Amino acid sequence: MTASAWFPQSSEVGRNARPFLHGPEFDAVAQALRDGQYGHGEVTEAFEGELASFLGVSDVVAVSSGTAALEIALLLAGVGPGDEVVVPSQTFCATVRAVRACGATPRFADISPDSLCVDADTVREALTPATRVVLPVLYGGRAVDLAEVRDELDDRGIVVVEDAAHAFGSRAKERRVGNTGVLTCFSFGPIKNLTSVEGGAVVPRHPQEGLRARRLRTLGIAQPQSERIRTTSYSVTDRGLRATLSSVHAAVGRVQLRRFATVEEARKALWRAYATRLAEVDGVGLVDVDVVHSVPFNCVVRVPERDGVHAFMRSWNIGVGVHYPPNHLQPAFAPWHRPLPATERTAREILSLPFHPAMGERAALRVVEMLERALSRIKR
Ligand SMILES: *Cc1c(COP(=O)(O)O)cnc(C)c1O
Repeated sequence: MTASAWFPQSSEVGRNARPFLHGPEFDAVAQALRDGQYGHGEVTEAFEGELASFLGVSDVVAVSSGTAALEIALLLAGVGPGDEVVVPSQTFCATVRAVRACGATPRFADISPDSLCVDADTVREALTPATRVVLPVLYGGRAVDLAEVRDELDDRGIVVVEDAAHAFGSRAKERRVGNTGVLTCFSFGPIKNLTSVEGGAVVPRHPQEGLRARRLRTLGIAQPQSERIRTTSYSVTDRGLRATLSSVHAAVGRVQLRRFATVEEARKALWRAYATRLAEVDGVGLVDVDVVHSVPFNCVVRVPERDGVHAFMRSWNIGVGVHYPPNHLQPAFAPWHRPLPATERTAREILSLPFHPAMGERAALRVVEMLERALSRIKR
């Protein structure tokens, strides 16, 4: 079964993002089903070990989603009611949901218009005496460097938790994201750089934190699964989510990880193809992902009259999208609204172009051609 059999040319640009399967996932899932241990099991633990060696860390805790990874990491950082978490408004609403799930409140930070990420200045501006965690989002896959405020955060006992849902495989300088010493959360959802269909992971900072993360993902049960199944009882000693990663999901993740280099290369090449072609287009700005270090998750441009451009391209079946409508303007998060000028300006301009590893570079050129056509229709 070749990848192209599953991703016909005609739909290459019809969707903004789509999963990429290498082929062996089908057999791996069938094997996991035949093995008959569907929940957290040996396959999940093998996946954890392989993620740890890929990242060059001593431990990784696999969970059921990126959102669960964030909630668990925030709990590990001690977040609870009365605490504030500094978080960009420019992110998927899941990031903010995780903060609320811990009973804490979001303190929305503005972004740098160049990277769409928080930086040392916007983080510093958002700090208050109630800040417990700073939660940068590695938008588009690029690492966020907070070195400039690091001492201040340490002095105030503020923990950094990274939302690296977009950034699996990316590097912060030379190290892989996840291997920089901060609590890092990944998502392995359907369209992420690495997918296990649904899933996620937390990279703990030390062995005790790894143990607690395993309790938190398993309803707060103290004994590891391997021990629990051999005894007549168990103790529930901690808070807990129901957030284990099933063996069937882990089986997909393991194949994806083994073949990750292909995806890494394809995403970088596609982003570069877009960048080269977009440089010829007047009035369009490309959001830089630092492609040398990053495994790009998306390709985002700034365009005038974004809603009009979006409508034209959608009518031509080009899978453009907007990532994301800002959270500080969402009804559910209204109590924590405050003005964020760069985020609000950006939110009116950004457009995500179709971007996924099965998409050829020629398809990208065609998307840009259609973008030019949409812009010229709007000018008229
Ligand atoms: C996908 C995503 C999440 C949530 O991950 P799930 O696996 O979907 O729960 C969180 N933050 C960002 C920025 C994401 O893109």
